[in-house]
Amino acid sequence: MFYKVSKEDEYLFKGKRKRLVEILRQKGIKNEQVLSAIEKVPRHLFFDQTEARPALLDHAYSDKALPIGAGQTISHPYTVAFQTEQLEINAGEKVLEIGTGCGYQTAVLIEMGAKVYSIERQKTLYDKTKLFLPYIGYTGAKLIYGDGYKGMPQFAPFDKIIVTAGAPYIPNDLLGQLKIGGIMLIPIGEGVAQEMLRLQKTNETGFTKKSLGQFKFVPLLQNKSGS
Ligand code: SAH
Repeated sequence: MFYKVSKEDEYLFKGKRKRLVEILRQKGIKNEQVLSAIEKVPRHLFFDQTEARPALLDHAYSDKALPIGAGQTISHPYTVAFQTEQLEINAGEKVLEIGTGCGYQTAVLIEMGAKVYSIERQKTLYDKTKLFLPYIGYTGAKLIYGDGYKGMPQFAPFDKIIVTAGAPYIPNDLLGQLKIGGIMLIPIGEGVAQEMLRLQKTNETGFTKKSLGQFKFVPLLQNKSGS
């Protein structure tokens, strides 16, 4: 059911990943654990299996956003690396991800040693990624089909929260589920580009906020999709 690549292909893709890591270094990513996670995750396997394969495989390791089905896209490798770096992840931390998509960011977080909880509102993507991640060896993430605005109160609090879709505002439920001292990365804005915010919770109701520039995401939509 999922695309399989030959051993020779694997070798080729390893080389391509090394080059991608060099590009990310040049763009300013410094955290060696983040870079080594990106070097390990086989991004070429995460795309929509129904799209034109050869073209996508060719682009798998260029710094581009690409289709993953259900009208959604996998984030740019730089965006994934940037958000992951800003989260300052330590092994064993509980990380809540909003917007599982194809699971690429989830896999990077797993490579960082995080205990990942991830929510997806599109049923088709959720169903596919739930099978796909263990299929390529990424087990242990708690994947849920639901509305990311609500978070996962049953597993809170989280050390870190990463939102991988553009939100119109900072959802209160998510802030409530962050540990004191915890960090949340969330792109805010409803236009073509969003402002990346890094929040750090200082006490039950307060947080510091830092703006980290403009990024492009698909929108964080309300409620589950139903299909
Ligand atoms: N982290 C993903 C990025 C996918 S794009 C990856 O690496 O592939 C953002 C994802 O957020 C899409 O799959 C979209 O369906 C999902 N999404 C949008 N609104 C959501 C919401 N309210 N709750 C959960 N997921 C949502």
